[in-house]
Amino acid sequence: MGSEIKKIAVLTSGGDSPGMNAGIRSVVRTCAYLNIDCVGVYRGYQGMIEGDFKPLDARSVNNIINKGGTILKSARCDEFRTKEGRKKAHDQLVTEGIDAFVVIGGNGSFAGALIFNEEYNFPVIGMPGTIDNDILGSTYTIGFDTAINTVVEAIDKIRDTASSHNRLFFVEVMGRDVGHIALNAGVGAGAEEILIPEQNLGLERLLESLKRSKKSGKSSSIVIVAEGDKIGKNVFELKEYVEEHLPIYDVRVSVLGHMQRGGNPTCFDRVLASRMGVKAVESLLEGKSNYMVGIRDNQLILTPISEAIKAHTEIDEELVKVSDIMTT
Ligand code: ATP
Repeated sequence: MGSEIKKIAVLTSGGDSPGMNAGIRSVVRTCAYLNIDCVGVYRGYQGMIEGDFKPLDARSVNNIINKGGTILKSARCDEFRTKEGRKKAHDQLVTEGIDAFVVIGGNGSFAGALIFNEEYNFPVIGMPGTIDNDILGSTYTIGFDTAINTVVEAIDKIRDTASSHNRLFFVEVMGRDVGHIALNAGVGAGAEEILIPEQNLGLERLLESLKRSKKSGKSSSIVIVAEGDKIGKNVFELKEYVEEHLPIYDVRVSVLGHMQRGGNPTCFDRVLASRMGVKAVESLLEGKSNYMVGIRDNQLILTPISEAIKAHTEIDEELVKVSDIMTT
């Protein structure tokens, strides 16, 4: 391919997501396949600043495709936000003879990569690794599919209890700024209402909807609430509000929390991460830099990182309609 790149580093940064290991494995094995040296950077940008590197060959990534989390560990690193911190990171990369890096992470990790590239013209490609599915330039991020399946499985179990005791459950799922997990898992698990940050359903409509559910003969209900829902009350306040205004309901709350980030990645996330890793290394060797690998219409595409970090992805209005119809 006639490229100057002989050694590529790979790191995971920001919040971990299931499938990151499959992504690391893919980058490492693609390098091995193309006779490029590969180095793992531990603990994201923190490890880059400290020179916490380890050479990785094809066999170093045996038996990790099925594991959640990240073998390289992840970290948030305030020092990388400073010019001095990034200078240290650059010095470490140069000392190690690294010519380019692949960062698997979210918007913040990409913002860091972009500014580093601006300062040092250092080749970088991003792979979207976050359960939130909130990155422009990719229909799916690595970890999203696993997270929604985890949530659906949990809600199926909660439903058993809800229906046995005629209860109403508020289930809080992750999603501070975006409601993709809530909407997709909510439709998949047959939730009665889905409260997402993109829409303000309003307390009155929620009460009306719950009243309708009762009238129509539903004896139990599940309401999914994204963390960042804009209704103005947290999930425990919602419980109190509904109990006060609809005493017929026996309300319980379940906050799913960090279990949503863990677990073995689904086949979808493993395949997605494997495809993205190949594309990331190939792109670097073709001389490309400052792009994020994404997927659209089942085709891998490259989006400038500067575009990818501009905004969050929009909620799928067609799915919102489906959800409205399904809760009739
Ligand atoms: P998640 O979606 O899980 O939050 P993320 O990649 O967005 O993942 P962040 O904590 O926002 O997670 O960012 C990860 C790291 O990227 C930060 O700890 C910091 O080291 C670096 N970073 C983020 N924003 C910047 C920035 N503007 N300049 C330099 N570095 C940054």
